[in-house]
Amino acid sequence: MKIRKGDNVLVISGKDRGRKGKVERILRVEGRVLVEGINVKTRHARGKRQGEKGQIIQVIAPLQVSNLKLVCPHCGKATRVAVKGEGKSKIRVCKMCQKAI
Ligand SMILES: [Zn+2]
Repeated sequence: MKIRKGDNVLVISGKDRGRKGKVERILRVEGRVLVEGINVKTRHARGKRQGEKGQIIQVIAPLQVSNLKLVCPHCGKATRVAVKGEGKSKIRVCKMCQKAI
């Protein structure tokens, strides 16, 4: 996966298309990520005990990585990433400005 925690990403499909946010969590196994403030779903939770009020909870739903593009911190453009090097010396390079991300 080319996206990491803390990256800024642009949503390229779905209802939040065109919005940007910061990656909060990576769900590697599912190939999905949680992005701050994006794809927020509202859930209504009923009170568990009698007399207790129901609550409205906002939950961030994960997004498919394929629906996201990394925003380069150097040139600020939504870009594709090239990976250079091997093993621990692996670096990500912005395809727009060629700088390491
Ligand atoms: Zn760049």
